[in-house]
Amino acid sequence: MTSPSAVPPTAHQMADFYDALGPLLRMSWSDNFHLGYWEGPGDGSSPQEATDRFTDLLVSRLGVGAGDVVLDAGCGIGSPALRLASLTGARVVGITISRQQVEQARELAREAGMAERVEFRYADAMDTPFEAESFDAVLAFESIVHMERPTALREMARVLKPGGRLVLTDVFQPQPQEEEATDAGPFDPAFATIREEDSPDMTSFVRLDDWPGLVSDAGLVLDELTDVTRNVEQTFARMLDGFLDHRREFESRYGVRLEQVLDSAKLSAQPNPASVGCLVMAATKP
Ligand code: SAH
Repeated sequence: MTSPSAVPPTAHQMADFYDALGPLLRMSWSDNFHLGYWEGPGDGSSPQEATDRFTDLLVSRLGVGAGDVVLDAGCGIGSPALRLASLTGARVVGITISRQQVEQARELAREAGMAERVEFRYADAMDTPFEAESFDAVLAFESIVHMERPTALREMARVLKPGGRLVLTDVFQPQPQEEEATDAGPFDPAFATIREEDSPDMTSFVRLDDWPGLVSDAGLVLDELTDVTRNVEQTFARMLDGFLDHRREFESRYGVRLEQVLDSAKLSAQPNPASVGCLVMAATKP
């Protein structure tokens, strides 16, 4: 499934990526480090509303309640985990590969008075310190894009209790045109950035069609695979607007130019939304 060159970023690269981007996202996007979900072109929801809506959509698929324990694999600064805990009453353990995010997430949990029920730890989602069958559900919200998918999925399946749900989002490479579809050989999901092929690799893409195989290879049963590209595509233009609107405030507060941050995060000021799809996947451990 994975080409030899398709290695996930190191923990260091990953932490640097989010340490550079995090303050900018918090100021000009939201504490949710994920795409927004809009009902349609006429939906004028703010980034905060649209990103929370996406969280709610995934939470509804987790099927958890009070007494359940959920792993949030790749938790960012904890905003979705806190929302999940308050919506459902479940306990949540959030893990991230950025120590800075662990600190920020713990602070948000304390501020929300939820530190008892929502815990954050530094851990690699591809190799967690948890016992097998520790969790009633696993959420991986826009985080598997940074991981070696088969390894991450096997690990998530391992820590799930039988009957437990895995819910995640992923980016995908839209289907090639008809004439290209006849190209021989499996798709090479080499890690690639949205901007340049020669940049260090933070995000990799697979195809939507790769997902049923990924899920069954991890020993899970696919319940849902939904293409939500149309709902999230406003994100790219809205995020860029947010960055530009907050340029002054950001640059004077952090003493760093916006372009430097985008550069170090390997993002372009002109992302090409047409090249990225987004899916929601839900699966159950038998
Ligand atoms: N789910 C969060 C954050 C999404 S950003 C939200 O929706 O707000 C992607 C997250 O994945 C970041 O927190 C990053 O640190 C984390 N991540 C990337 N690779 C990881 C790995 N191997 N193990 C654990 N977390 C990882």
